[in-house]
Amino acid sequence: MKTIKKIAVFTSGGDSPGMNAAVRAVVRTAINNDLSVVGVRFGYQGMIDDDLVDLHDHSVSNIIQRGGTILKSARSKDFRAREGREKAVENLKKANVDAIVAIGGDGTFRGATELNEEFGIPVIGVPGTIDNDLSGTDETIGYDTAMNTAMDAIDKIRDTADAHDRLFLVEVMGREAGFIALETGIATGAELILLPEAVSRIDDVRESLSEVFRVQRRSSLVIVAEGDETGGAIKLAENLKEDFEKYEMRVSVLGHIQRGGSPTSRDRVLASRLGSAAVQALVDGHTNVMVGVVNNQTKLTPMKNTWAKKKSLNYELLELAKVLS
Ligand code: ATP
Repeated sequence: MKTIKKIAVFTSGGDSPGMNAAVRAVVRTAINNDLSVVGVRFGYQGMIDDDLVDLHDHSVSNIIQRGGTILKSARSKDFRAREGREKAVENLKKANVDAIVAIGGDGTFRGATELNEEFGIPVIGVPGTIDNDLSGTDETIGYDTAMNTAMDAIDKIRDTADAHDRLFLVEVMGREAGFIALETGIATGAELILLPEAVSRIDDVRESLSEVFRVQRRSSLVIVAEGDETGGAIKLAENLKEDFEKYEMRVSVLGHIQRGGSPTSRDRVLASRLGSAAVQALVDGHTNVMVGVVNNQTKLTPMKNTWAKKKSLNYELLELAKVLS
């Protein structure tokens, strides 16, 4: 394999808190290994548009605490076509880039895998997504912050729900995976948690809520992952309206606040470890793998396994939530 002298780093797909800390770690570890670094702005679209910037030690000063991503992020339709990828590779070659570090979710990794398989460019993935839905790492960068943001918001909703004895349906992010819903549900003492991995039939939801009201007749909180079978909190509220007429029902969709904000210390440390491990993996000659942390040890996983093998929820936690609610 060609000796690596210059790497490109970019953030892609949905942004997640901690991406900046990962970029910082990539840049500083690269410099420490006598490599030069360019940042690609706006993910794969920036690669196609030749939107590259040189990154130095000072370029990543004072960003570890910032949410969002200084490199910006984007979803690129053009990159899905072969011509788009050819253009991207042409620009990388023009800039003398030998290898890339891709920070994002499964879509980002699919794109990186294609770059590697079609053009032979060494690629390393860094898991940056609030969804925590990638195999090969116990947690993804941004997940902890998103959960804490959701928890803080839900605590506030609980106060007002309690003051009025209301039923609140709170929707959290998670189209395919219920990690955020499950953990925030437990952390906020939700009466019911609905998520994509567990079948949620509307009749069962009705029955569970009726039971909650029969037993306690006070404010109740239902956490609904956006990808739950019931169709999300707004649709669920419409379907439950008639059955729970005497309770004041309110819906709150937390939405994008879950993506923003300053990363927690846990996300900053995780991002620092993973960004650094990604560069080390390239230096050691690895390619087409994702860096993760499993049982507190950094681990490399073949990129394809990160999305092909669905990460399992901890079903014990789901049972625990039922016992404690
Ligand atoms: P998140 O999990 O936060 O949504 P993600 O990385 O999965 O992040 P996507 O929008 O799915 O976000 O993917 C990011 C970008 O990766 C896409 O906009 C597209 O440019 C590229 N991409 C996704 N899938 C493929 C694919 N199969 N082939 C080539 N490129 C892809």
